[in-house]
Amino acid sequence: MTPAMPWLAPVWQQINRARQQSRLPHALLLSGSEGVGKKHLAERIAHALLCESPNEQGEPCGQCAACGWLAAGTHPDLLLLEPEEAGKAIKVDQVRALSAGLGITSHGGRYKVAIVRPAEAMNMNAANSLLKTLEEPTANTLLILGTAAPGRLIPTVRSRCQKIQVPLPSQQQALGWLAAHNLEGEAAVDSLLLAGGGPLYALVLHQEGAEALLNDSLQQLQAVGEGRLDPLTVASEWQGDELALRLAGWRQWLQWLIRAQFVPADNGAVNMAQKLHTITESVDCQNLYAFMDRIDSARNALGSGLNRQLMLEDLLIRWAAMPTGRQNNVMQGSR
Ligand SMILES: [Zn+2]
Repeated sequence: MTPAMPWLAPVWQQINRARQQSRLPHALLLSGSEGVGKKHLAERIAHALLCESPNEQGEPCGQCAACGWLAAGTHPDLLLLEPEEAGKAIKVDQVRALSAGLGITSHGGRYKVAIVRPAEAMNMNAANSLLKTLEEPTANTLLILGTAAPGRLIPTVRSRCQKIQVPLPSQQQALGWLAAHNLEGEAAVDSLLLAGGGPLYALVLHQEGAEALLNDSLQQLQAVGEGRLDPLTVASEWQGDELALRLAGWRQWLQWLIRAQFVPADNGAVNMAQKLHTITESVDCQNLYAFMDRIDSARNALGSGLNRQLMLEDLLIRWAAMPTGRQNNVMQGSR
């Protein structure tokens, strides 16, 4: 495993041991936060299985024909299943094509590997179709499903995979990795907070200039929560291309609010909670958890052609009605 992502090393060693002892299952479910390195890990597994002579640590040789194809992204035994457009669903036809591809004998006479990500993007038909492949696995095939939301997979798919939890790095490890990618200082800390601790996601957020958009969104949420801004105005502003990112940010802030209450010594959580000062005053964790579920449902439905305006109006009106610091301040004011 590349030392650049040291937090993946223990998981990698576990998988590599299983590979060496021919104990790999037919399907692995890699679950872990957004941007923690699941795709990287899945590709490492694929490379170790497809290379003609990987070393003890599972590092591919870099010399054989398979390594050449992998480097060019053209290895016929490595199949990738992703939404056709970012944020959209993985469709049943795509799964059928994948299953057909897995049924063909491997070109290199070794493994056939399929990576499905994000696995929760499969719609119900797609998931049911994949289930058939999971139930009747062919020899020397490995399906690797990656997800940041295992709870959104149908239980029958989940139960047929061996689950591997991909851990978050420590803050020090994450900041080290970001520094190696030229993101340092306060910008690195902020991006990492917004990303929920996943360094690869933090880097993407930073590169896309997401901090400004998310800070803006955060201020609007504060204003809606305090009754200073009309939820319907915000809904019409938010329904564009950046909606998925705004919803992800919103969910992350709720998570930080909850975390700040349970782990008061967590500097990251406290910093973020301070940015949400008006909401943190009298926040009710149960309300926050329920709200996170609503945001998850909305994110889940994003690719399904739902009416974004109506969905956002519903969320924002509920948000405005949440018992927040506003009530608390009013009470303090009347004392
Ligand atoms: Zn090789």
